[in-house]
Amino acid sequence: MNSDYGTILLDEPLASYTTLKIGGPSARLFFAASEEELSKILTSFREEPLILGAGSNLLISDRGTHRPVIKLTGHMRTVSRQGNIISAGAGVRLPELLRFCIAHRLTGLEPFAGIPGSLGGMVKMNASAHGCAVSDYVTQIEAFTRRGRHEVIPAERLDFRRRHCALSGAVITRVKLCVRPANKDIRGRIRAVVQRRLRTQDYRYPSCGCVFRNPSTAPAGKLIDECGLKGLRRGGALISPVHANFIVNTGGARYADVDFLISQIRRKVYDRFRVRLKEEVTRWSS
Ligand SMILES: Cc1cc2nc3c(=O)[nH]c(=O)nc-3n(C[C@H](O)[C@H](O)[C@H](O)COP(=O)(O)OP(=O)(O)OC[C@H]3O[C@@H](n4cnc5c(N)ncnc54)[C@H](O)[C@@H]3O)c2cc1C
Repeated sequence: MNSDYGTILLDEPLASYTTLKIGGPSARLFFAASEEELSKILTSFREEPLILGAGSNLLISDRGTHRPVIKLTGHMRTVSRQGNIISAGAGVRLPELLRFCIAHRLTGLEPFAGIPGSLGGMVKMNASAHGCAVSDYVTQIEAFTRRGRHEVIPAERLDFRRRHCALSGAVITRVKLCVRPANKDIRGRIRAVVQRRLRTQDYRYPSCGCVFRNPSTAPAGKLIDECGLKGLRRGGALISPVHANFIVNTGGARYADVDFLISQIRRKVYDRFRVRLKEEVTRWSS
């Protein structure tokens, strides 16, 4: 359905918008193709919206959600540069951003290769890999508040910490990243990072990446493995035999299956190591 707010889909199943392939319908899924459309959408309802990036860190209930869901598209996925500063729409996916960096011979973002997120989701989660965090590159973001007000926020005000960025309810629309000119082709580095991921993580089945944050004592995957939980299955959900911190969907997994495995992991790891694992995955359960 087209409207002043852009395209809206009613009762749209969300599973296919997530990398885990789980999730019931969104009562109203808005596609905002420009800042103007986004501002209109945000001012049109009272409830706090949910923002859907590339859905690679989401565990969505089979019942779906009645809250409005917003996805960025169109202009919100464009990328440009001025010198060493990239200005990218928050809806752009990391592979597209890396292709831009290759074409413009810009280096810095290669450690993130293989993360299937959008730039907005990566900033919100302060995604990290190989000792680098997205916050190492962000200089400024543009965002719209819940009431539709446009704001330009310098990185210093975002209070970046591990998997945390101080933005509550605001929609990130554009991000400025500071990178460097590459003195050689960065393709080889990207390939090496992706190959390492393919060796150490489970890319055979849909997943949402690591389910738990790493506690300070040891990687969550190691603790889960030492509890002998690799290979534990419930319905179509499986604790990956390749990487114990991944729960994969081998086919037809439901929210309750993943929730069950998460509870088992938390209980067993606590009983054995007295460590309370914290979830990294973002749940939409209402
Ligand atoms: C195979 C695999 C490997 C992964 N490896 C890594 C890794 O190495 N490191 C890592 O950190 N993560 C990793 N992840 C997890 C995930 O890719 C990241 O957390 C990513 O940053 C999520 O981005 P997204 O666009 O998919 O966000 P979503 O999953 O769509 O959303 C995540 C959160 O961000 C919010 N959000 C999304 N877009 C916006 C926006 N524009 N404005 C405001 N809020 C927004 C959502 O509302 C939600 O709260 C991996 C996932 C998979 C499936």
